[in-house]
Amino acid sequence: MRIILFGPPGVGKGTQAKILSGELGIVHIASGDILRAAISNGTELGKKAKTYMDKGELVPDDVVIGIIQERLKEDDARKGFILDGFPRTLAQAEALDKVFEKSGIKVDRVVSMEVDREMLLRRLTSRRVCRNCGSIFNLSIDRIEGSKCPKCGGELYQRDDDKEETIMRRFDVYTKQTQPVKEYYSQKKLLVEVDGIGEIRDVTSRLNKALK
Ligand code: AMP
Repeated sequence: MRIILFGPPGVGKGTQAKILSGELGIVHIASGDILRAAISNGTELGKKAKTYMDKGELVPDDVVIGIIQERLKEDDARKGFILDGFPRTLAQAEALDKVFEKSGIKVDRVVSMEVDREMLLRRLTSRRVCRNCGSIFNLSIDRIEGSKCPKCGGELYQRDDDKEETIMRRFDVYTKQTQPVKEYYSQKKLLVEVDGIGEIRDVTSRLNKALK
């Protein structure tokens, strides 16, 4: 299965993509995770990306398209994949179509997760990520002791772009640049909308239904 998980920042794409990737046995490819890994490895790409990410802006299309193109060529993506955070602009969606055309593959479903702005803001400001295993937690829901990951004991941190001012900019960018991508897939009859509010497992079961 080839799935695109779509939706605003904080809607739960990362959390759900990790679960679905395990359940469906397909790889989870998150553009944001790849960029953050490049930043922590101190690469040139990471340095460039950081200047945009810190401001809540999108990293230029050519950079992100190149990264995803390369990632999709890897062996583990042959069986299928869940794309999370890509495409985020019409240019990216069109570039992805070209990549698929070339390799003779198609996207099966684009699932758009929906949550209202107020809740997104609350979720993002209380989001913490484990530096070691990458698990995502919410301070107001999960039982967190100190700043240790409940799964592996790693250190939890707050993403730099999860500060309120940057979140507002990311919402703005989403509305202007990313929202049109939804219409793009809707016209291709690939889009399904899923309510992202509620317990993680309830959202997962809605997603599974939408993917059937
Ligand atoms: P995310 O982890 O998906 O919330 O992405 C975090 C940040 O990485 C975004 O705010 C952008 O600055 C950058 N980013 C991730 N994916 C993309 C993309 N497809 N296009 C442009 N920038 C991206």
